[in-house]
Amino acid sequence: MIRLHPVPRPAELTDDKVKELTERYQREQHPVWNEKFIKDALLELSHGKCCYCECDVSSGGSYLEVEHFHPKSLYQNEVMLWENLLPACKRCNGHKSNHDTKQEPVIHPVQNAPQDHLSLKNYRLYSKTQLGEKTIEVLDLNDRARLVEKRFEIGDKLLTTLENLWLDLPELSEKQLGRKRKQLIALMREGTACYEYSATVATVILQDENYQKAKHWFIQKNLWNDELVNLENSLLEAILR
Ligand SMILES: [Zn+2]
Repeated sequence: MIRLHPVPRPAELTDDKVKELTERYQREQHPVWNEKFIKDALLELSHGKCCYCECDVSSGGSYLEVEHFHPKSLYQNEVMLWENLLPACKRCNGHKSNHDTKQEPVIHPVQNAPQDHLSLKNYRLYSKTQLGEKTIEVLDLNDRARLVEKRFEIGDKLLTTLENLWLDLPELSEKQLGRKRKQLIALMREGTACYEYSATVATVILQDENYQKAKHWFIQKNLWNDELVNLENSLLEAILR
């Protein structure tokens, strides 16, 4: 999970529209939020990912579910409140279900910084706070088959790539070092917000010994440029340590 930066309420969702759809929901109890302009804005908010587990839900919006942070079953007057809508995958939306977030709060990825509440170790999430603990429990964020194994698969591949990247670095010519730097840049991009599972990628890269050795080698050779500095800062925003 990473912190998401709010996007403005879609222009189509005027105060009158909110009122109309809320009343229609209260009357008919059918979903009224599956509008394209709502889904598009939610996909923009989360870079096409589930706001909790970071899996890709962007494929034509078909895997995206409109999640009500405060559940629609308990807070019917908030069903169309823009701040209450989040993009989620079927798995996370299903786990969260009717959980009462006002009685027992969980992390809101726009309002809370997940890294203040969660850490990642051995591809499992650990809580730093009560909010983190409740979030892991309610959303089943250590679901072995769906999340822990996926994180392991990603992390193991990254560690192998970083191992190979560092391996012959000290023996390379300047031209060859330039190619290796491009490889590292491509790898680090995968830990930025628009990629799937970016919190896992950022955490694995920044905590890897071979990454740190490669970084210091590039610094010594005056090849740690602004692009790498900016990328590392982006990864630091997502790290769960
Ligand atoms: Zn999810």
